Amino acid sequence: MANDSVQNLKSKIQNPKLSEELANWLEFYRELGIEEFYRRAPGSAAPLPATRVGTPVGAHGDAIPQPQAAGKPALEETRPVVSAAPPAPPLRAGVSQTAVGAPSIRPPAPSLSLFEAPASRVSGPETLDQIRADLGDCQRCKLAGGRKTIVFGEGNPHAELVFVGEGPGADEDEQGLPFVGRAGQLLNRMIQMIGMKRQEVYICNVVKCRPPGNRTPEKDEIETCSPFLFRQLESIKPRLICCLGAPAVKTVLGIKEGITRIHGQFYDFAASKALATVHPAYVLRNPREEKILREDFEKIREFLKGK
Ligand code: URA
Repeated sequence: MANDSVQNLKSKIQNPKLSEELANWLEFYRELGIEEFYRRAPGSAAPLPATRVGTPVGAHGDAIPQPQAAGKPALEETRPVVSAAPPAPPLRAGVSQTAVGAPSIRPPAPSLSLFEAPASRVSGPETLDQIRADLGDCQRCKLAGGRKTIVFGEGNPHAELVFVGEGPGADEDEQGLPFVGRAGQLLNRMIQMIGMKRQEVYICNVVKCRPPGNRTPEKDEIETCSPFLFRQLESIKPRLICCLGAPAVKTVLGIKEGITRIHGQFYDFAASKALATVHPAYVLRNPREEKILREDFEKIREFLKGK
């Protein structure tokens, strides 16, 4: 949105406080280099447009050539690519570089239009507690009917490392905590292997309610729930996001390519880097693949060592 149309818009808003807030909000994003906004009709539940693209980079910013099927783009991206990122800037290098590396800003969550966003959302990053409160006793999708407990996420709200799994299983549904079953025990071992404690990291999932029979979450469920995941990531702003398994990779990075091909590579995700690895549950079913998980966790260790 160009500056003149911002002025135009401001002049149409009668409420001076709202007008001021809007101007600040737009200025903030303009400084990030983001000038295009759209307005969604209040209450519309249209899925968010994908604005993220996974750009593989080395752990410290060097571009990595992608596996490429003949005649196909390296990353099969079915959604609009906003930014073909240049080699990633150093982590936490600054707001403007973040905006260049990969678009970090999604529009306000569904059901909030630009003009309806409460002041708390306009004036600073949300806390995890605020996001949890907004999730409430969620009935937004059909998973609500089958769950016992919402599994929002657990861990350090300022974590450098965030794990994103697929969705709660039976144990998680029972306890209300992510990765507490057998897959969680394997994840804990990997976290310890790299010299970290579970309490230091943050762990969450693409969907917050257990899919029946532990099936893969469906598209509409992911579209409904993932805005909460993105808000969690935006609140925590970790240095590294580790996507566990295909649904997490597809949701966070928009990559449909098989995990075994793209695992262990670093991608830009807003101000963070992201890395994909195999899901611990997959390793439990295929113990020989633990090697992949170990190797990728060693990359995580190396990455986090570099400041
Ligand atoms: N698998 C997941 O993807 N998430 C959990 O929380 C547990 C198992």
